[in-house]
Order: sequence, then structure tokens, then C-alpha cells
Amino acid sequence: MADVNTLSTKTGGPAPRHRVVIIGSGFGGLFGTKALRHADVDVTVIARTTHHLFQPLLYQVATGILSEGEIAPSTREVLAKQKNARVVLGEVTDIDLEHRLVKHHLLGRETVTPYDSLIVAAGAGQSYFGNDRFAEFAPGMKSIDDALELRGRIFGAFELAELAAAKGEPVDHLLTFVVVGAGPTGVEMAGQIAELSRHTLKRDFRAINSKQARVILIDAAGQVLPPFGKKLGAKTKAALENLGVEVQLGAMVSDVDERGLVVRDKDGTERRIEAVTKIWAAGVQASSLGQTLAEQSGASIDRAGRIGVNPDLTLPGYPEVFVVGDMIALNNLPGVAQVAIQGAKYAAKEIKGRLNGKPQQRPFKYFDKGNLATISRFDAVAAIGKLRLSGFIAWLIWLGVHLIYLTGFKNQVTALLHWTVTFLSNDRSQRTATEQQIFARQALKRLPRGASELVSDPGHFEERRAELEATAAEEARLTDSGERGRVAPERV
Ligand SMILES: Cc1cc2nc3c(=O)[nH]c(=O)nc-3n(C[C@H](O)[C@H](O)[C@H](O)COP(=O)(O)OP(=O)(O)OC[C@H]3O[C@@H](n4cnc5c(N)ncnc54)[C@H](O)[C@@H]3O)c2cc1C
Repeated sequence: MADVNTLSTKTGGPAPRHRVVIIGSGFGGLFGTKALRHADVDVTVIARTTHHLFQPLLYQVATGILSEGEIAPSTREVLAKQKNARVVLGEVTDIDLEHRLVKHHLLGRETVTPYDSLIVAAGAGQSYFGNDRFAEFAPGMKSIDDALELRGRIFGAFELAELAAAKGEPVDHLLTFVVVGAGPTGVEMAGQIAELSRHTLKRDFRAINSKQARVILIDAAGQVLPPFGKKLGAKTKAALENLGVEVQLGAMVSDVDERGLVVRDKDGTERRIEAVTKIWAAGVQASSLGQTLAEQSGASIDRAGRIGVNPDLTLPGYPEVFVVGDMIALNNLPGVAQVAIQGAKYAAKEIKGRLNGKPQQRPFKYFDKGNLATISRFDAVAAIGKLRLSGFIAWLIWLGVHLIYLTGFKNQVTALLHWTVTFLSNDRSQRTATEQQIFARQALKRLPRGASELVSDPGHFEERRAELEATAAEEARLTDSGERGRVAPERV
């Protein structure tokens, strides 16, 4: 049965405060919550992860530069001092617009949380353009799980190659890394794998030469980094090629399997690339909560699953519901962090304004602060307004911006330390990878109800309480009486 999640309002107590529910602890969710810190409201943040994820640095976790904690601090800790906010872990599975209820699940438990105002900031996932089976062989780059799995796959491929080479077996398929999608994430991944193989790993193996690894960046489009314009796209391509990355443009991936992938070129010819490690950085699909909202409100949904919202970011017909960030289709806004941050702040301001009787704000206006992408250490590109920068200056801007926006002072300090180590020495301190990181997700997917199959109902713990207490009492008795290690009398 579902729990109903209410904020401590007992009968006869003070009038209940306005309840704001925020779905998601990403850029929209976190900045929206923080913007409400001085408001006379109770905020409940419901998210399916315990952390706030700084997605722009996922590629550094995948390639061993940063640890996952540095880019994904605990949301609970980040919001600990914000007394009007609480954090609830759970996957939102339904939103009842008529009754103003959010339904969420955690390991088989269902909870229903009522709201007066709702901010939906559930972001977007990876899109395989209808070929979801590719995901098993070419993980995307959207979550900490993705990054750690990719880290395991990348470093694991070098390990397998070392074993194979020692036996005289072929290694080319193990030492070929294919990144699909030449947007910022693809460019950054390809650049980092090239640096890893050419510099970081060059002394670590005996049977293989890591520098011979092939790094291929593939895109169906005709240029890399389209949002940065033609000039910076061409500069980035040249810089990647200089690093040893093969850039294949106008090339469409038509199939992916465990050992490689099939690519169709512009002239229609199909070719196969043998590559055990594939990384998918090609497309995005908005959260399916967009569909849930669209079905009830009649709002439009585009091909990427983004929902059409009013110019004030509200859901058509539901002024108490705001949708922000990667989930929305409005005026061709890009799927970038600033759209989510500014949108969430706008929604929070509107909620506060309504409670204080202020007139409605003007329609949401996005202020474009520009685009940044790194290519390799000391090399980046930046498109800020009409300014186009590349090389070291752009890299310094990238460094400063990422440091400022990384959540938490602790993380800023440790990230700076790790960057110093990596950028000055080429070493990477986060190379730990385990078998579970690589395979556990597939194992979980094979369970019909996923992780909830692996836990018992809370009642089962109660039944075992007496047994656990008896065991603990016996353990203590054995220690106190000094009986441990003594041979039992009947066995003498
Ligand atoms: C690899 C990568 C690199 C990027 N680089 C840049 C960059 O350099 N610059 C830039 O500006 N932007 C970049 N972006 C885009 C940027 O990260 C997004 O635009 C931004 O995160 C969108 O914010 P959001 O709040 O809409 O969604 P997100 O930040 O994705 O947050 C969504 C939240 O919702 C939660 N959630 C989702 N579904 C549910 C559910 N059903 N129930 C409960 N919780 C749910 C998620 O767990 C998460 O907490 C990058 C994105 C990626 C993936």
C-alpha cells in the first residue's frame, strides 16, 4: 500500500504552509530548491539518485581524472542547512495533475506526495534513436553508473589486450575505442581516451603499446561541435586529429554488437569496425514524465520527448506546474545547464511572487552565457556571444567556469588537486574499476523487477529481530566469559 507523505501538519496546529514539490536533483532541481530557501514554503525534492550530478564532468570520471563524489555530492548534504527543504529518494512514476499528487517508488515501496506547486526538472536520458538494444554494448554518458561502467570498460580493454598480446592473440579490436556523437561530450571523451593511451598509460603495460590504441570519433553530421559554429568545429577536428583521433563525419551507425559496430557512409556503403569499447554520446531523450504530463494536459511533445510549455514555463492548463531544463521544448532553447538553472530560478521566483501577491513576471527569457568544450589538456574551445576562442585561453576559461559551478567547496578543492596532478604530470588517480561496475547493470536488468527483487519487505526484518538479538547476546557472552578459542569439553 502507498504511504502518503505529508509535511508535519497536525490537526489543530498552525495553517499548513504552501507545499512545493520538486522532481529531480540535477541543475533545475537543486537551483530551484535553493532559490526557495527564504520563502515561506515547504519544499520536497524527490529524485531517483542520492546525489546532485554535475554532468559536464562525467567524462573525467569515466577516464580516471576525478572521483564520482567530486562531481556528485549528496543532495541531502548540499541542502542540509536549508531548513524548509527535505530530500526524498525515489523514482517518480506518475503525476496526478487533477489531484495534485506525485507518486514515487523506492525498492518496491510506493509513496504519494501532495503538492500545491510542482517543479518538474527530471532532465533527459540517452537516445539510441529507436535502437535501444545498442545500449548494452555502447553505454551512454548520463549518470554516475554510466561513467563508472565506461571507466571499467576503457581500462578493462587495455587489461584484456595485455593478456591477449602476451599469448600472441590479436588485440586490434580491444585497442579500438569508438565514440559515437561529435558534440561536446563525444569530443571530450575522444580527446581524453587519446591522452590516456598516448600519455597516462604509456609506461604501464609490457605486452602492448598503449600508444597504438585507435580512437575513432563518429558522427552522422558533417562537422564536429555544430553548436560552436563552423570555424571552431574545424579547429576542434584538426586538434583532435593532431592528438591521434580519427574523426569520421557523415557516418551513421547502423548496428552495434559486443565486438564492434556497423557504419553506413554517406555514399551508402556499409563497413564494420571491430571495437570492443563503444561509447554512445549521440542523442538525448527527455524524461518519460514529459509524456505523463502531456497525456493529462494535452501539451505537445516533440521527437526528443520534450514537452511544449507556456512562455512562463507552466504546463498548459496547469499554472501550478512548472517544467524546466532538458525536458522542455520552448523557443529552440538548448539542452544546457544554464537553461535549467535559469528556468528553475524563474519558476521559484514566480511561486514566491504569487504567495506575496506580486504580479506575474514577464515570459521566461534565457540569457546565453556561451558554450565551452575541452579537447585535451590546455586546449579547449569557447563560443561566448560573438567571441570565438580556442587553445589555452579557452581552456583557462573552461577551468574557471567549471570550478565555480562545481557544487561544494570540498569538491572544488579536491577537483583542483586532481586536475593539477593530471594536467601537470599526465597521471590519473581515479583508475579503480571493478567487475561489478562493468557487469552489474546488465545482471540487474535481467531481473524482472530489478533491484527490488533483491530486498525483502520491511516485515521480514521484524520477524528476525529476536533471532538477531539472541545471536548478539551469545556473541557478547562468549567474549565476556572468555570461552572463545576454548576447546569444548565433550571434544577433549
Ligand atoms: C555528459 C554531459 C555533458 C554535458 N556538458 C555540458 C556542458 O559542458 N555545459 C552545459 O551547459 N551543459 C552540459 N550538459 C547538459 C546539462 O548537464 C543539462 O542540460 C542539465 O543537466 C539539465 O538540467 P536538468 O535539471 O533539466 O536535468 P538533470 O540535471 O539531468 O537532472 C535531472 C534530475 O532528475 C532526476 N530524475 C529523472 N527522472 C526521474 C524520475 N522519474 N524520478 C525522480 N527523479 C528523476 C535525475 O536523477 C536528476 O536528478 C551536459 C550533459 C551531459 C550528459
